[in-house]
Amino acid sequence: MRQGWGVFRGCVIAMLALICGCSTPKPPSYTRFPQTLIPPPPATPESAATISTAPSASTGPAQPPVVLDSNAVAPLRSAAIAPVATPSPAPNDNEPWTPIAIWCRSKGLPTPEIQAGSRAVKIGGITHFLGFEPIDQGGTICIHPLDRIKTFEPLTLAPTWPHPKILVLDPGHGGAQAGSRCLTGNRFEKEFTLDWALRLKPLLEAQGWTVTLTRTNDSELSLTDRVRLAETQQAGLFISLHFNSSFPNTQAHGLETYCLTPCGLTSTTTRVYADDTTATFPNNQHDAGNLVLARRIHRHLLSATGASDRGIRRARFMDVLRGQNRPAVLVEGGFLSNAEESQRINTPAYRQRLAVGVAHALE
Ligand SMILES: [Zn+2]
Repeated sequence: MRQGWGVFRGCVIAMLALICGCSTPKPPSYTRFPQTLIPPPPATPESAATISTAPSASTGPAQPPVVLDSNAVAPLRSAAIAPVATPSPAPNDNEPWTPIAIWCRSKGLPTPEIQAGSRAVKIGGITHFLGFEPIDQGGTICIHPLDRIKTFEPLTLAPTWPHPKILVLDPGHGGAQAGSRCLTGNRFEKEFTLDWALRLKPLLEAQGWTVTLTRTNDSELSLTDRVRLAETQQAGLFISLHFNSSFPNTQAHGLETYCLTPCGLTSTTTRVYADDTTATFPNNQHDAGNLVLARRIHRHLLSATGASDRGIRRARFMDVLRGQNRPAVLVEGGFLSNAEESQRINTPAYRQRLAVGVAHALE
């Protein structure tokens, strides 16, 4: 923890209630920390239940707002989340915004495609979303120091795999939780996520991973159970597999990879949840590892499928990620609400490419 973040206030708010059988999501339990001390320009989260895609010039024209895979990550039950004792690293008081092109050069990183006012930035050709809009200071694009720490500094880290190499793969949905409906053919997300996971498992095992699936058939399990399985397996990584839907909008297409939003940053996607930027969850201990994993998977999936890059995104509402004591990501492998993409997803050959993409990321 860096100087100036202030002393951890110790006001752990244990207000989590399990919402089994309750249709109204309740606020999660979390630990509060002081908000970033530097007055940032206001960052605008995506509106509840909708997202806009990469508005920067680097990612082409903005696509229409779409509703995300609405069944994908809505909590069946809230995970019982223990408070965290150590907050995320934070910038020093009054640390100035970072001239990012200069900083990247000093670290031997590629110059990012970035513009003032847009949270979408391409780094090494991959779209990421920042927590704050970059600003133009005398012709130099500068980013908030927390964005430097949480998005750019992890790029300097070499990926390291856990020892032993134990991984839990989570085919999203199952049973009555069918997920999104495929626009082409009367099939549902739950079938495709399971097939993706079953194809991926042997590929990863051939690479020396011990792989456990949260489900191997059409069974229904809670998000709490999925997190618990990763715990009992002592998994070093957790990957949740989903497909997206924006129905009735049928235009959106492409890949999205999610990790938990680091403390202090605004989420890319908020949905109906308040995006409390002071919240820290257990999985925030793995902010850097989450991003390294997300970036590798996202990059290799783009390469394996040729799909559009909708970016590495951050959200706080995903129970299946928040309580994870290991690097964890959620992948949306394409839009079942898009005619072309759903047709591709409906083919075993394309799902094999999705499996190969993730496997290559974990080599
Ligand atoms: Zn889903």
